[in-house]
Amino acid sequence: ATPTALMVGTGRGAQLGILIKGPEVLESTRRVDTVVLDKTGTVTTGRMTLQEVYAADGTDEEELLRLAGALEHASEHPVARAIAEGAGERVGALPPVERFENVAGLGVRGTVEGHEVLVGRARLLPGPLPAGLARALEDAEREGRTAVVVAQDGAARGVLAVADAVKGTSAEAVRSLRALGLAPVLLTGDNRTVAESVARAVGIDEVIAEVLPEDKVAVVERLRAEGRTVAMVGDGVNDAAALATADLGLAMGTGTDAAIEAGDLTLVRGDLRVAADAIRLSRRTLSTIK
Ligand code: ADP
Ligand code: MG
Repeated sequence: ATPTALMVGTGRGAQLGILIKGPEVLESTRRVDTVVLDKTGTVTTGRMTLQEVYAADGTDEEELLRLAGALEHASEHPVARAIAEGAGERVGALPPVERFENVAGLGVRGTVEGHEVLVGRARLLPGPLPAGLARALEDAEREGRTAVVVAQDGAARGVLAVADAVKGTSAEAVRSLRALGLAPVLLTGDNRTVAESVARAVGIDEVIAEVLPEDKVAVVERLRAEGRTVAMVGDGVNDAAALATADLGLAMGTGTDAAIEAGDLTLVRGDLRVAADAIRLSRRTLSTIK
């Protein structure tokens, strides 16, 4: 009966939009008691838009957007896409990039029109932000936006704020995961204020924010060391290692190939509610076998 039950389970899984890597995956679904959810692209849509542009005194807003937009055009990060698109809409054609460097989980650096340009988290800058920019950044974050700094030739010149929406289905998904006995944890590289506002919107109280991509694995390991059995749901390149480390890795099918390869299960349509379906189905399939 074992192979038949498994086939039924995976056949039903395919109908629901769940791809399962192998039967050994099912066993861990019985024990999971914690579900770590990536924020951007998993709980939120990941389709960010540029919402606010703040240029420091004496800085030309168009010039700021041209340089930042050009640099971000070379990156595939959701924040970068929003900035490149928003800049393109506001200032037209963007100049080419002469040099480009990605600083994972923090931002981008490079050369545009002979200027050294940086776009990313304030901690990429050597010194503190000028007061006006610091205030603009704080205001944007308080409103739940992701705010990044633009620097030109070593000096901070502006703040850009982007935002994406929480998926309409995320709160229901979190309720279903709780009903299965899983404690939800929100994990993100984004700032704490934004993370907490998203968590509140979907009913999560445990928030781990401002985590660098390479440290997401350490968070999963720490939770496991505390005796928890961890499922992780993610979509990004920055989630791949954590998905592989978790007891059960669930990749959003709408996410990156790296995440899909690292996961044990793929949620084909990128619907977080299906994470709960997947765990429920696997548990049921297991009880049919036993
Ligand atoms: P998440 O864990 O939510 O998927 P990331 O680890 O990818 O987020 O990014 C964390 C933060 O680093 C972003 O919220 C942003 O502030 C900054 N960041 C990352 N990449 C870029 C970029 N290309 N341009 C600007 N900021 C960036
Ligand atoms: Mg993500």
